[in-house]
Amino acid sequence: MTSPFFTHLECTRTGTRYDRDGLHNLSDVGAPLFARYDLTAAAFTVSRDDLSRRHEGGMWRYREVMPLRPGDAAITLEEGSTPLRSCPRLAASLDLQQLWVKDESTNPTGSFKARGLSAAVTAAAARGATKLAIPTAGNAGGALAAYAAAAGLESYVFMPADTPQAFQLEVISCGGHLELVDGLISDCGRIVGERKQEEGWFDVSTLKEPYRVEGKKTMGYEMAEQFGWRLPDVVIYPTGGGTGLIGMWKAFEEMEKLGWLEPGQRPRMVSVQASGCAPVVRAFEAGEETATPWEDAQTCASGLRVPGAVGDFLMLRALRESQGTAVAVEDEELVADSHELARLTGIFPAPEGGATLTALRRLRDSGWVADDDRVVLFNTGSGYKYLEALSTKTP
Ligand SMILES: *Cc1c(COP(=O)(O)O)cnc(C)c1O
Repeated sequence: MTSPFFTHLECTRTGTRYDRDGLHNLSDVGAPLFARYDLTAAAFTVSRDDLSRRHEGGMWRYREVMPLRPGDAAITLEEGSTPLRSCPRLAASLDLQQLWVKDESTNPTGSFKARGLSAAVTAAAARGATKLAIPTAGNAGGALAAYAAAAGLESYVFMPADTPQAFQLEVISCGGHLELVDGLISDCGRIVGERKQEEGWFDVSTLKEPYRVEGKKTMGYEMAEQFGWRLPDVVIYPTGGGTGLIGMWKAFEEMEKLGWLEPGQRPRMVSVQASGCAPVVRAFEAGEETATPWEDAQTCASGLRVPGAVGDFLMLRALRESQGTAVAVEDEELVADSHELARLTGIFPAPEGGATLTALRRLRDSGWVADDDRVVLFNTGSGYKYLEALSTKTP
């Protein structure tokens, strides 16, 4: 299941190469590292038809473009292969011809964080790390604790003290060390940074290690394969750290190089944030290349409560290159639309998923999304962990 094509890591700012064998965090200039593959050679070995004949499910089925060296073993709970559901009733309510929900709530641990942490824990374990630390707004901590449990590693999870109970309990139940922090995910990240050396922790903060983005990019591969290698016109994605958005954009580029996608057919990417924490929307609207951290970040959509992100410049670049846009929505609307999405599709979404529906409604009203655009909403997690937030406003 390993990839002979995984060659090295590369700094996303300077292009400097790093070896694939060390335990790496950011590059020397403080930027995320990307895994790189010999895609020219991979293109000779595997075609998209080979892929569709492959019986193996889950995200590791894209093994040629996954960061597994010979001898490495994937730590997996069978993440990926999530449904891409056609939603005609929801489409009709928005006067759209076609609409799909990529339903990531069916992943292990109830969110797409499983993809990223499967890849990160796999890589860290293979390189000899034994104690993994993470700052989290909720779902990433649960996923780390679960994958560390599967691998027999220790996990140290730093979470804002007001994070809903389900997220906390999941960590404790999986044997993780939970520390509640009086602050936000950024404060949690600072604590991990300050203590990691002394404690011997490997920091698996998103985009501060190279592999979570490799897990999340598989959403892009799956979507392409599920659509028969013709991408949709618009992808609406709830954005916190931005790893999913950045990962899918990387996947599209790789698939073009592999000859699996026609160049010039990528979707317009839409970033959705909560109006109580919208640093990417603000930076996008101001035409900035990086985002200024948001003060007093507040939203019940925990995954969106990320005041600053190390990959901000990569998100903003992907939004602009794709001719996309960024939308901020109120908590009250995104909770109401979580229920509306459930009512019209049967999917019980995380509030972050509900937020994509509010954004789509806006973009239909303004005409930015046309009635014949093929649109995909990403429901990034399950509603089950957010009972407090979702009961603030019921239908
Ligand atoms: C983490 C999270 C997000 C934000 O994801 P990024 O890829 O970090 O932007 C969105 N929704 C849910 C449910 C999350 O857990």
